[in-house]
Amino acid sequence: PANSEKLTQFLKYGVYHLESSNAVFIDPVRALNRSYSLFKVSPLRYYSRFFEHKPLGTTATGTCSNSRKRKRKEKRPPLALNERERAADHRHQEVRPFLLKAHESLLRTDELLSVLPNLRSGEAAPAGNDESELPQQSFIELGRLWQASMYEISLNFPHSREQTRDEGLLRSLCFNGLDMLLPIFDNLVANDMDDDVEAEFLGSRYIIPRDSCFYMSDLKHIKNLVPGEDSCGFHLIVIDPPWENGSAQQKSRYPTLPNRYFLSIPIKQLAHEEGALVALWVTNREKLRTFVEKELFPSWGVRHVATFHWLKVKADGSLICDLDLFHHRPYESLLLGYCDGKIVDSEKLPKGRDIHDNQVMISVPGDYSRKPPIEDLVLELVPGLKPPRCIELFAREMRAGWLSWGNEPLYFQESRYFMS
Ligand code: SAM
Repeated sequence: PANSEKLTQFLKYGVYHLESSNAVFIDPVRALNRSYSLFKVSPLRYYSRFFEHKPLGTTATGTCSNSRKRKRKEKRPPLALNERERAADHRHQEVRPFLLKAHESLLRTDELLSVLPNLRSGEAAPAGNDESELPQQSFIELGRLWQASMYEISLNFPHSREQTRDEGLLRSLCFNGLDMLLPIFDNLVANDMDDDVEAEFLGSRYIIPRDSCFYMSDLKHIKNLVPGEDSCGFHLIVIDPPWENGSAQQKSRYPTLPNRYFLSIPIKQLAHEEGALVALWVTNREKLRTFVEKELFPSWGVRHVATFHWLKVKADGSLICDLDLFHHRPYESLLLGYCDGKIVDSEKLPKGRDIHDNQVMISVPGDYSRKPPIEDLVLELVPGLKPPRCIELFAREMRAGWLSWGNEPLYFQESRYFMS
């Protein structure tokens, strides 16, 4: 049968608005591909987990396989909860109906469910022995070396770059034919072309989307991002901090930082004079939620206006684990708040009462702690003229039209994550 208009749009842009709920289903691969013209994000690499076959005994509403033992341990009776756990449980109970409604809506959407198992197809498995099998470069370790300031990345610009180059953006550059060599650490590296460009660093290739830039540095140097003029600030600030928590440390994929370090992020100075929407990813730890509400947002000058949730499913539509597991939930939350600008133009600010709280985005997760793109969900809440100026803090990837900052913003830009 012919695809519905909704499914056709989903297959093109990666976003499907689910019927009768505050929810969307997202295919991050399709959504990210809007940033690229010459390359495509590899679905096989993106979806490295959760595409296994449904184990026996798993229900569509999402019971984890082999998790009975863990569940017995983690699902303690309410009486055994201490005060903080009770607060966490209360928060969970408030969110639960929205998550269930969104998930039920997904399970009713047959046309979408029928394409989910194919999200990962569309390319041949990478042949063995190729460069992508080599271990990945650790920017975190290189950035700590005393030689860091001497490392350079080479950007391969096509001929037309000669006319469009904005030299004001680039601190030190020298030409080597059509390759431009730029310091890779503590330097703003920009691709202001209308196409993706390829870059090379220590023998690995990276894909840099059109009209994007990265600044790779430690948190110590974040002040260098503060724009010289308020009109050059950002309308959307997405932040996914390396929060300290049991699981991140256990897996030690990246270093984490104590909460108080994040108080120093200069949100007010990064915000555009017309104001900024701040979107902060948080874990379900109650202690962290209290810290953000009572200390972090107030010190950043951010007013909390809504909380959205990311519900994680497998390729068959079932939740990645039981919704009610105490220490391991199949969802994470995104706190949204406003940082007022110097120009208070109430006409340009989306009205608080218009914001639907508890919206849910559903997707099949990619690599560990890789978050789905959120701009489709939050765009109408972003103040100022469109297109907005966007920045992602603690980023591991780049987007067309965005500035990505962190100690490894090129991580998912390596060519192993792309197909030509
Ligand atoms: N949002 C990202 C994604 O979807 O892939 C994940 C971000 S991860 C939660 C946090 C990032 O912060 C990691 O890349 C980590 O290396 C980085 N980070 C940790 N300590 C840092 C520091 N001192 N300065 C800058 N970045 C740091």
